[in-house]
Amino acid sequence: MIPSLLPTYNRAPLQFVRGEGTWLIEQDGRRFLDMGAGIAVNSLGHANPVLVAALTEQAQNLWHTSNLYQIPQQQDLADHLVADTFADTVFFTNSGTEACELAVKMARKYWFDKGQPQRNEIIAFEGSFHGRSAAGIAAAGSEKMTKGFGPLLPGFIQVPWMDHDALASHVTENTAAIIIEPIQGEGGIRVLPDHLLKNLRTLCDQTDTLLILDEVQCGMGRTGHLFAHEWAGIAPDIMMVAKGIGGGFPLGAVLATENAASAMIAGTHGSTYGGNPLACAVGNAVLKTIANKDFLDEVKRKSGLMRQSLEGLVAAHPDIFEEVRGSGLMLGLKCTAPNMDVINAGYDNQIITVPAADNVIRLLPPLTISDAEIAEAITRLEKAASQISATP
Ligand SMILES: *Cc1c(COP(=O)(O)O)cnc(C)c1O
Repeated sequence: MIPSLLPTYNRAPLQFVRGEGTWLIEQDGRRFLDMGAGIAVNSLGHANPVLVAALTEQAQNLWHTSNLYQIPQQQDLADHLVADTFADTVFFTNSGTEACELAVKMARKYWFDKGQPQRNEIIAFEGSFHGRSAAGIAAAGSEKMTKGFGPLLPGFIQVPWMDHDALASHVTENTAAIIIEPIQGEGGIRVLPDHLLKNLRTLCDQTDTLLILDEVQCGMGRTGHLFAHEWAGIAPDIMMVAKGIGGGFPLGAVLATENAASAMIAGTHGSTYGGNPLACAVGNAVLKTIANKDFLDEVKRKSGLMRQSLEGLVAAHPDIFEEVRGSGLMLGLKCTAPNMDVINAGYDNQIITVPAADNVIRLLPPLTISDAEIAEAITRLEKAASQISATP
């Protein structure tokens, strides 16, 4: 008999009832160190008092109106994002998937309005993840995500990750845009080196191709810059944001240059909930905290500390771990042992990590994690590794 919850998830037998900063408290009272943060969502930790205050204050005044009317919280958040990034304009969504939908629509409408409707093809990358909508799975293209869901949305191709020559040969007179995660998250914390992101920008400039960056997972301070592409000193034309920007409240956004967004006039796109007062009140509080030099410098410093400790862990347990990957507080451990064994041993030792492709476990803690909590995470991962080694 089918369960009352559609069984599309493989859920761990854990039931958290409360959160405090970097900690999740299970129903039976056990405290877990949360190095997953709801997959890079709880960017400022659980029950952060600043976010709780922003949410409750807004909740007491007004939850929802409609995008038929002006929404001052949304205007504020857009103004701040524009001030802090490459973007000239912002559209708010509830999720990363919806950001993907708009990014694709925006790129296609751009070329349609330029009188080149044949330029509708979007180049994506093997191992990528852009969400579970029809456009999102067509972009990722993997059998795992697309099998059985055909006919797929046409106009997407996938090229090998990090193969710049293959990429250049696929850009044709039909290419509208290239979509890429500066750091693949689900794909296994695979960082695109800065020089390849720069090359990609140059290729897009030379061929008039729109560059769409999916910073849903790697953005919002995760790498120690507000957005990951800042490390390469380049800017996209269109960028998808979600996860960390809401700190746990559903919120996403598409940021774009004036040029890239030029075809999106009134009536071309919309959302009932996107950018509602509750989400934007929280988003404003999150952005104000993260888009701050001292805060981002701390993320960089803690990243160095964590990386160094993880290198030590890998060296001490070559039977379990192979290498450390990632940037900032978006780190991955490529495992020698099956990654789910490591994650389950982590649960036994009350630490939460998140699986990814390529036999990787992801460490995506709240950006507010303390030095002592980083040390505690290493201790617990050490115990988990020793436990697996000791099991015949
Ligand atoms: C999570 C994620 C998405 C999808 O976001 P949802 O909010 O789950 O729809 C898209 N792209 C990337 C890179 C992601 O990590």
